[in-house]
Amino acid sequence: MNSADDRRNVRAGHRNGGGTVTGFVHKGHSPHPSLDDSLEGEIRAFLTDEDQLHTYDDLTKVNPVTPTTVLKCLQARYRVKVFYTHAGCTLVALNPFQPIPDLYSLDVMKEYHCASQPQEFKPHIFIVAEEAYRNVQGQLEPVNQSLVVSGESGAGKTWTSRCLMKYYATVAASSSVLKSQDTVERIERRVLDSNPIMEAFGNACTLRNNNSSRFGKYIQLQLDRCQLLVGASVQTYLLEKTRVACQPANERNFHIFYQMMKGATDEQRKEWKMSHDQRFVWLPKAEKTIEEDCFHDTVEAMVHLGINAEKQRQIFKILAGILQLGNVNFSSSTDESQPCNLQEQSKDFLQRAAELLCVPAEELQLCLRVRTLKAGKQSVLKPCSQAECSMRRDCLAKVIYAQLFEWLVTFINNSICADKSTWCNFIGVLDVYGFECFQINNLEQLCINYANEKLQQHFVAHYLRAQQEEYVSEGLQWSFVKYQDNQSCLDLIEGSPVSVFSLLNEESRLNRASDAKTFKVRLEKELCDNVNISWDKFSKVPHFTVAHYAGKVNYQIQGMVEKNKDPVPPELISLLQKSENALLHQIFTDREAENMTSKGLSKVTVVSKFKNSLESLMKILHTTTPHYTRCIKPNPDCKPLTFKKEEVIMQLEACGIVETIHISAAGFPIRIPFKSFMERYGLIAKYSGSKSESHCVDLEALSDDMREVEKLVRVVLQHQGLDPSRCLDGEKHNSWVHCGRTKVFLTQSMLDLLEDQRKRI
Ligand code: ATP
Ligand code: MG
Repeated sequence: MNSADDRRNVRAGHRNGGGTVTGFVHKGHSPHPSLDDSLEGEIRAFLTDEDQLHTYDDLTKVNPVTPTTVLKCLQARYRVKVFYTHAGCTLVALNPFQPIPDLYSLDVMKEYHCASQPQEFKPHIFIVAEEAYRNVQGQLEPVNQSLVVSGESGAGKTWTSRCLMKYYATVAASSSVLKSQDTVERIERRVLDSNPIMEAFGNACTLRNNNSSRFGKYIQLQLDRCQLLVGASVQTYLLEKTRVACQPANERNFHIFYQMMKGATDEQRKEWKMSHDQRFVWLPKAEKTIEEDCFHDTVEAMVHLGINAEKQRQIFKILAGILQLGNVNFSSSTDESQPCNLQEQSKDFLQRAAELLCVPAEELQLCLRVRTLKAGKQSVLKPCSQAECSMRRDCLAKVIYAQLFEWLVTFINNSICADKSTWCNFIGVLDVYGFECFQINNLEQLCINYANEKLQQHFVAHYLRAQQEEYVSEGLQWSFVKYQDNQSCLDLIEGSPVSVFSLLNEESRLNRASDAKTFKVRLEKELCDNVNISWDKFSKVPHFTVAHYAGKVNYQIQGMVEKNKDPVPPELISLLQKSENALLHQIFTDREAENMTSKGLSKVTVVSKFKNSLESLMKILHTTTPHYTRCIKPNPDCKPLTFKKEEVIMQLEACGIVETIHISAAGFPIRIPFKSFMERYGLIAKYSGSKSESHCVDLEALSDDMREVEKLVRVVLQHQGLDPSRCLDGEKHNSWVHCGRTKVFLTQSMLDLLEDQRKRI
């Protein structure tokens, strides 16, 4: 892929965008349409030639569209190292799991950016990027854009998002470097530098991805009137904070801890009370990742973003304090009226944790071992059990880490966000976790899958609406595209008055001892009429099953209410507010901290917070023109160039790609303005061999007129022995072609027919 010519890949039509036809696919086989009168027969005649499958740059051209044909096509392309394929309005990106030289180089960016018709080029993430960039200008007024990147863990969402950000930081960079090189350079660089910081603090090595994002992210790239990148803002969702204190087997903690361990200078080690051979319980040694070598890059990015040396010191001391806390253990108490004691070997760790977090060691110990119960104005002290002590220790680490992460995001935003007066439009990039279905699923999966339901609904609604609008403006009467709406599933999860979320929130507020049991009973009683939920009454582990658009998922009920409450003992917050670490003190004295304690429970359960942030996101998405990229992970082991069919087909099903193609191909996926249509196909009439006067078209006399187009179409159809009154009929659903006010609307089969005849001239 060295030249633009190589990259140019002739495509049939403009994907539903209603643009001109600029190039056409060479399928390499010569479909000889059957003269069978049945349209079904015609469709079958176009069954794909397997040797040519890799040439299909748009899955809507695969015929018939089934999970198997789509899979075969993607596999054939992967085999010849083609990783991007259009699926109508969506781009499918297969992860190569190895660097592909020159695929994302500066030259390639420039070629896509400078092309008069980037859609003519081979499918690439830069086509999506460029389309969005050009769309911002809009035909009548500027329109904000959103690039929605989805896929399962390890599929390549974050990689793709980084590519998109680099693309804009390059093509939308100001060329007027002479004016103020510093500012100009700084803003693009700062925007990109937000990535290594957020990845260091928010990503971890998991069984499915060595650099797995443990949070969702929506970044808005702000453009000024000249379409130059002048700033950005980031919104994050649902950081998996439990990982700080509890890492699943063979997985690791967040990268930043390993980076510190590996990259610290001797001086830092001393300050962090962290010797070379120090073992930390919360830093399991799973497979090594390249991300752990990046301490220097993280620090450099922090410097670029304006996190000064003193703030950095405070941040790293807090993190080091968390690690020490992980080594603190309690012995079991025989006397329930007495608090559990620290294990002997834990005393040093607690002392160091207190020093690093800059809180009094005595108080830290007390907070972990004794609970303060408030009864009116009086306080009662109650000793904690061994398990409760450990829970409080974990809770302390989680709340510190989560707040630190939020502080970082806010800091990044303050550093990269442009003044509102300087930007007028944005391109948003959404990198969210894909649909998840594990052996055991809990509240996290319910939230993630709920987010995916929302995005799927948005996708279908937006796409179908766009299609219908064009039909209406072109005078086509019908609304024939029917699609399975997922509203009933969303009602089940979030609807009112009764839904899984509403019941979960109620149970969380009531704070009953047996909340899991009552939650289960209420679910069964109050949602029994909903077709999207079911139960296996005989299962040992209480659970409920939700029929998502992407498949059925069993959710474990045990622990769900507690997770939703996510309580933080107020004593812990009070302790942190006393910290002499200025940063720790600051992040826990903000008013927000109030909401974290049990007092604020009624307001912020996990699901209500998540639902609110998702609703704000959806509101933004609704005001933008979306572009969808579905990343696919070709094998579970992240091996280069390995394509596992079973693995891929599951993902195709989970992201509803076959439905997407059907929607894209439903009706008339190819729309060509009359003039372009006659320019390309006018000759067919002349050379069709048709002797019939009524079918001869005088090319010279042709105007861009619907009647002429109709005439030509009749010629083509009749030449194939097809009945024009059947195929060229605006009322019937099985028509192949329809003339709107300014464009011809074609099915893929009709386009193939035209192309075939044109080739024979
Ligand atoms: P998660 O949901 O766990 O965060 P993800 O979808 O964000 O997963 P990435 O971290 O983007 O997945 O990708 C996983 C790995 O796959 C990357 O670290 C990189 O090694 C590789 N990869 C992804 N896309 C590409 C690509 N286009 N070219 C080369 N390698 C890639
Ligand atoms: Mg990721």
